[in-house]
Amino acid sequence: MSVKGNLWDPVAGFGVTFRTMFKKVVTEQYPFEKVPTAPRFHGRHQLNRWPDGLEKCVGCELCAWACPADAIYVEGASNDESANGEGRFSPGERYGRVYQINYLRCILCGLCIEACPTRALTMTNEYELADDNREALIYEKSDLLAPLLPGMTEPPHAMQISDDHHDYYRGKQLPIVEVGE
Ligand code: SF4
Ligand code: SF4
Repeated sequence: MSVKGNLWDPVAGFGVTFRTMFKKVVTEQYPFEKVPTAPRFHGRHQLNRWPDGLEKCVGCELCAWACPADAIYVEGASNDESANGEGRFSPGERYGRVYQINYLRCILCGLCIEACPTRALTMTNEYELADDNREALIYEKSDLLAPLLPGMTEPPHAMQISDDHHDYYRGKQLPIVEVGE
């Protein structure tokens, strides 16, 4: 290489540095400042509820079968409203008694939420899934269930929207209760 070339290279290199000093900074100050994700970002899962608080999951295991990483474990059980039964957790016949997602395996691909027939399983925008032990990354049903919103009651309890579980899927609303004067 010529002497002229050798002299010019550092000048060109520092030129890039100098120009960058006047550009808008794009560094993200995570975790002190959290930049919102895209609205459809695939983060931690959530098990959704009906407006009366009953669970949408029917324990069918379709999500577990769809998962390419074998990250979901489901055990379904029958709702039992008899005197000795555990009560009702979902409308209809079955509910998810055990529900686990192993975030050591999950690749957040979203195939499980596509497979769910009741829209019980969706994904949130939450991405902070790191921990310092393996056990903490196996999320149980209690970790994944959506919080109770106003008007919801923690199961087990009877169906409050309708006696016909099909009405839940038809989108029927909770009955309006007249409040006395
Ligand atoms: S997001 Fe993908 S990898 Fe994770 S549990 Fe669902 S199907 Fe499995
Ligand atoms: S989350 Fe959906 S697909 Fe998975 S077991 Fe429950 S109802 Fe079935």
